[in-house]
Parts: sequence; C-alpha cells; structure tokens
Amino acid sequence: MKIFKFGGASVKSADAIKNVGEIIRTETAPLIIVVSAMGKMTNKLEDVCNDYFYKKGNASSHINDIRSFHFEIIENLFDKNTDTIKNEIEKLLSELEGITKSEPSDYYDFEYDRIVSFGERISTAIVSEYLKSNSLDNILIDIRDALKTDNNFRDANIDMELSEKFCKKKFNFDNTQRYITQGFIAGTITKQTTTLGREGSDYTAAILANLLNAQSVTIWKDVPGVMNADPKLFADAEIMPRISYKEAVELSHCGAQIIHPKTIKPLQNKNIPLLVKSFIAPQEAGSIILQMNEKIVMPPVYIIKKNQLLLTLTPRDFSFVAEEKLSHIFAVLAKYRLKLHLIQQSAINFTFLIDYNDQTFKSFIDELQKTFEVLYNKNVTLLTIRHYNDNIIKNLTNEKHILVEQRSRLTARFVLNEN
Ligand code: ASP
Ligand code: MG
Repeated sequence: MKIFKFGGASVKSADAIKNVGEIIRTETAPLIIVVSAMGKMTNKLEDVCNDYFYKKGNASSHINDIRSFHFEIIENLFDKNTDTIKNEIEKLLSELEGITKSEPSDYYDFEYDRIVSFGERISTAIVSEYLKSNSLDNILIDIRDALKTDNNFRDANIDMELSEKFCKKKFNFDNTQRYITQGFIAGTITKQTTTLGREGSDYTAAILANLLNAQSVTIWKDVPGVMNADPKLFADAEIMPRISYKEAVELSHCGAQIIHPKTIKPLQNKNIPLLVKSFIAPQEAGSIILQMNEKIVMPPVYIIKKNQLLLTLTPRDFSFVAEEKLSHIFAVLAKYRLKLHLIQQSAINFTFLIDYNDQTFKSFIDELQKTFEVLYNKNVTLLTIRHYNDNIIKNLTNEKHILVEQRSRLTARFVLNEN
C-alpha cells in the first residue's frame, strides 16, 4: 500500500484536480490519498474564524466566497449533473454557517479547528466524487474517526495507540483499493475536531504510513523535488535526488519549505521512504528521502527565512540568564506559540530569533518587558547554509549587515538586517 499526498496547489482548480485523477489512474498499488484544502481556502477559513470569534460581522461574506470558489471548480470539473455534489457541499457550508451564527465559546483555538477543518472536508468530498465519476472507485474516510488526538487544539498530539486501532479498522482495503481522506485535521475521542498545525497534511500522510506500514509516501508538489535553494531566488538551484532522513530533518527544521518538519520522524521510525515529486511532470523521479548508510556529497543548501524578529533580553535586576530566567522565557514563548529558530546567550543577555507575528507582537513584548530590558530588530532575515564553504559565505553575506553569526561543522547561520 502506498500513500499519496496532494497539497492545496495540486487541487486549486478543476484542471489541477483532473491532473490529480490522471496521476492516480497510473498507480496500480492500493492507495490512501491524503488531500489538503483547495488553493488558499485555509487562509480564507481563518478569516471566517476571526470574524466569527471577534464578532466583526463579515463571516457570511467570506462563506459566500468559499461557496463560489468551490462551485466554480465543480462546474468545470464534472460533465454530469452537478446537483448532488453541490447539495453535499451546501450541507457542509450550512453546517459552517450554523457555527458562525451561534455564540462563540471563549476558546479561540477550539473554534479555529472546527472552522478551518471545512477546507479539507469540502475538498475531499469533491475529489472523491470526481474520481468516482471517472471510474476511479474509492471510499471517502472522515479522518476524524480514525486519527485520534488530545485536545491541544491547533497543534494536537496524536494518540498513536488509539489511532492505530481505528485506522486499521477504517482503512482495511476489504472493499476498495483506494481511500480518500483529509490531511491536517483529526479528532478527539469525544468527537471534537482538532488540527495538526498549518501545512500539517504531510504529517498526516506520514502518520498514516507509520500506523499502516505503507511501502512509501509520495508528496506531490509544484516543484520538481527537493531543491538545494529556492529556484525563484537562485537561478542555479538543483534537485537533490537522494537525501537521508537526517539531512531532511535538518533542512525542514532550518525552514526549508518543502516538507513539514514533523513529517520525517514517523517515516524514519518505520524505515518508509518519502518521495517528493512534481504533479506537473509526474514521470520524473523527483527526490527520495530514505535511510542512507553511505555518505554522499551534498551540494551547499541555502535556506532563507524572511520577516524574522530578533530579540535580546537582559534581566532588569542584572542577574544571570540561568535556568530560572530561561524557563520564564520559554514559558512566554510557549504561551504565544512561538518557535525558536536560533539562540545565543551570554552572561546577562539572551538573544533569539522567531517568526514575526504582527497580531501578538505588542503583548508579547509587553510581557517580556516586565522582567527584561528588551531590544529587538524587526524584519530581519535568517540565512542558513548547509554544507557551506568560505566562498559561498562570502558571496551570500557580502555587503550585508550581519547581526548574529553561528557556525557548526555543517551549518552556517546568519541573521541579516535588511533595513
Ligand atoms: N490546508 C492546511 C494548510 O493550508 C494543511 C495543508 O495544506 O497541509 O495549512
Ligand atoms: Mg495548504
């Protein structure tokens, strides 16, 4: 059994979905097909959630946009009468509308998950129906009945034992060779909807592969494979055909956009290879991420993360930044769900880099200022170079203002001031 994962870009239009159908048709192995929300629908549903929760009154106009977007795709996708599928989507949309007409709870993350999950619920309903109408028989599984999580909404943790039991029952391949299911979303044992973090569909595919012992996972993307740099920024970017699990984890952790950082572990644990292939050129090999015992020469890999926030904290009472102060800092970071990208420490300074978030910036800084003097630089860039050499560093940092610099054996990192 293989797992295919199709992200938002691969199902963003009727033509894109037809192409997905062709890719599925050429696969002879039993398949589980994990699908994301279409195009940018998750962002749109975040707008619905914000308008509902903060009572801005625009939720239904966003829902109308969501309806038109999917109905236009349906019109262009199906040759047959579209009433049945439209009714099905309309049912989902009125469920969503029902939520937005009720009084919100006080718990944003809970509301977020039950609202954004409609993106995947709608996309899978359409894809499943489309495949069926093109003689690609399949069964649609609501993943919330199979992947069970705790109730840490928006970043839920999977209960592997429970999920294994439910997944084996749901994906038994007794009556079909093909299942369609949602990425990114999951459910608690009390049937509440959870999500696994933005861009989490890759992770869903990896978890299902682990639980069901798949022979491989293929992530279908709009790039030819895992590249050593963003081809939009570096004209000589090249595909890396073979990558070890270890290298892949480091790359995704540094901010390489290609795979969700949590994806590798469940695959590595069961030694399941991960293929990254282009849905535009499916016949090409792409990249494969796997267990590698031999050492191969890797090209230099460049990863650029823009819009970062660099902070330096100094305790107001001039005490050292030791365990107690550090655990306070980490508690504040956890509260704001901020992930650290780089840390540097001296006696009374703690410097770190995080993604800039306009919404929480002010209250985050206010909270830190209770205990620390806070200095910060907005809009800085993190440049990571794996497998670096001096020449490459010179070229890429030339005439740039370097705020922080760190080098280990394989990785050089620079925080650059873009202002
Ligand atoms: N639709 C979700 C998102 O855009 C999950 C995913 O695409 O992986 O974050
Ligand atoms: Mg997406």
